[in-house]
Amino acid sequence: MRAGPPPHAGGPALIQRRTVSALPLASPDSAPSSGADDPQSILHEIFGYAQFRGPQQAIVDHVVAGGDALVLMPTGGGKSLCYQIPAIARQRAGHGVTVVVSPLIALMHDQVGALHEAGVDAAFLNSTLDWEQTQDVERRMLRGEITLLYAAPERVNTPRFLSQLDSLRERGKLALFAIDEAHCVSQWGHDFRPEYRALTVLHERYAGVPRIALTATADALTRADIVERLQLEEARQFVSSFDRPNIRYTIVEKKEATTQLLRFIEREHEGDAGVVYCQSRKRVEDVAQTLVDAGINALPYHAGLDAALRQKHQDRFLRDEGIVMVATIAFGMGIDKPDVRFVAHLDMPKNIEGYYQETGRAGRDGASADAWMAYGLQDVVNQRRMIDESPAGEEFKQVMRGKLDALLSLAEASDCRRVRLLGYFGEKSTPCGNCDNCITPPQVWDGTDAARKLLSTIYRVQQQSGISFGAGHIMDILRGKATEKVKQFGHERVSTFGIGDDFSEAQLRGVLRQLIATGALSVDAQAYNTLQLTDGSRAVLKGEVQVMLRESISSPAERKSRREKSARGAPSPAAATLDAAGQARFTALKAWRGEVAKEHNLPAYVIFHDATLAAIAERAPATLEDLQGISGIGSKKLEAYGTDVLRVCAAF
Ligand code: ADP
Ligand code: ZN
Repeated sequence: MRAGPPPHAGGPALIQRRTVSALPLASPDSAPSSGADDPQSILHEIFGYAQFRGPQQAIVDHVVAGGDALVLMPTGGGKSLCYQIPAIARQRAGHGVTVVVSPLIALMHDQVGALHEAGVDAAFLNSTLDWEQTQDVERRMLRGEITLLYAAPERVNTPRFLSQLDSLRERGKLALFAIDEAHCVSQWGHDFRPEYRALTVLHERYAGVPRIALTATADALTRADIVERLQLEEARQFVSSFDRPNIRYTIVEKKEATTQLLRFIEREHEGDAGVVYCQSRKRVEDVAQTLVDAGINALPYHAGLDAALRQKHQDRFLRDEGIVMVATIAFGMGIDKPDVRFVAHLDMPKNIEGYYQETGRAGRDGASADAWMAYGLQDVVNQRRMIDESPAGEEFKQVMRGKLDALLSLAEASDCRRVRLLGYFGEKSTPCGNCDNCITPPQVWDGTDAARKLLSTIYRVQQQSGISFGAGHIMDILRGKATEKVKQFGHERVSTFGIGDDFSEAQLRGVLRQLIATGALSVDAQAYNTLQLTDGSRAVLKGEVQVMLRESISSPAERKSRREKSARGAPSPAAATLDAAGQARFTALKAWRGEVAKEHNLPAYVIFHDATLAAIAERAPATLEDLQGISGIGSKKLEAYGTDVLRVCAAF
């Protein structure tokens, strides 16, 4: 993907070797050393964090001890440490190499670079390496030196790689398999990769080598599928809360989606990094252009772009500040940029897992972030049609329909979005206070009467004319508009003509959308999008089903811009509480970090997160001791950057 050799191949290779000598391999029978090899010390020393988060400690302990694990944690929950710390601990205990299986070739360079920055010996094997580099990595792997080796699943299944693993295994130097993005093994997940199916080889050929599988996608069906496919029946399951409290969920009714998006960005996210998801490549191009024309720093990303350009846009998104990536769902898996402030959907995803995974890419740093979606009738029609027209079997389609229905009812909901989202993942919760419906409870009206009138109009018109009609025509009849078309077909004589004239068009559209969303009405895409009654229509017609609807809000209550914008764009939320001198230090530290990142060809946040820089700026350190204990500064970074940081701060 990336042209030429990966940039770290020269530079950080030196770091790798140096690190190796700093971490001598203890032989398994040697007495345990100082105790600095326990997970808590590694967390502290290598990553510079004070405490494990949520279930991390339990997972790490289990895997260090050689247990198998299935980890279900939301995006941004902290999955990486769950295998990286066991890998380091097991390497130090003499067990050798951890193999990380990941589908994310385009990100391996940065993942490995981040580990190098922390002083961990890591490497990757993928198609971006040339022969010489590959051999170098393989040699070091075979010597058992590498702590974490990243490889794509198709690599794992090659005879060459398997024979290398055999050799490691024979010498007791195969410490652990980590299977990242494990939902890729399931056809129910939204990122199915056939190569993942072959990973059963790990269990069969290397029985006894512990395995940890991790994913952020975890509805019951997908979970069961992962367990079965990867033969993890004996593995301990660690299911975290899926809540991402700092993300605010908002779903607006779609009118002019691009204009709505522009307003949303201008009002709330000027200068922020964000991701905008669209369904088609063409729409990605159009929307990106519109944003650029409006002065927003936007880039397109979709599978139709040349691979080198795609990689370039991804790198810019990761490395520059404040880029808005307009993308299809081809973009985003594994993107660990911590300061994405919003994720917007201009088209509805296929299901809640997709929605949750995509929106989860916002706010990994824990600071406030937005998940915003514009949703309309056309989304319902499109998604239903894509399922109907797919070549899949009926059973599969049924599952897909069920998943779509769950997302539609989330979109139509007038109660807390988060309660519904978490409920979908099997978690009970109470109204969150941080979603659109909690913040501005929508008016709800009883649309049962309107729904019955709509359905009976459709029925009568069909009876009278023997053909079906589209939504616009049906609404005209119901609202008593004698258009040319109405007169042409004599539809002003239908008994429901004009009986709905007290409903606004927006209201009727809302009713239609909900009827289609719930399957009480269908749209025939093969016949000019005409409306068709379904089995579900009868219950509504008979008045057995109540139709409650959100009042259509013409312009959502404008939220005040959440923070003051400085002349240089939005300040990082991490630095919001700093005084003027602190802000100055923060700005200088960021500039310094930018240079270091460029030199190392890595994203800035891999050097230090904003939150770490803000904490440094606040402390105004004068000595290296002053830097101790700041979250995100491990011993390697302290050694590599401590004096530079002091020098930058000393200027103020
Ligand atoms: P995931 O892979 O689950 O999406 P990551 O492993 O990328 O999430 O972690 C998300 C962010 O949280 C990262 O920036 C990581 O450095 C940070 N993080 C993870 N665990 C901890 C911890 N125990 N203390 C502080 N920060 C953490
Ligand atoms: Zn809520």
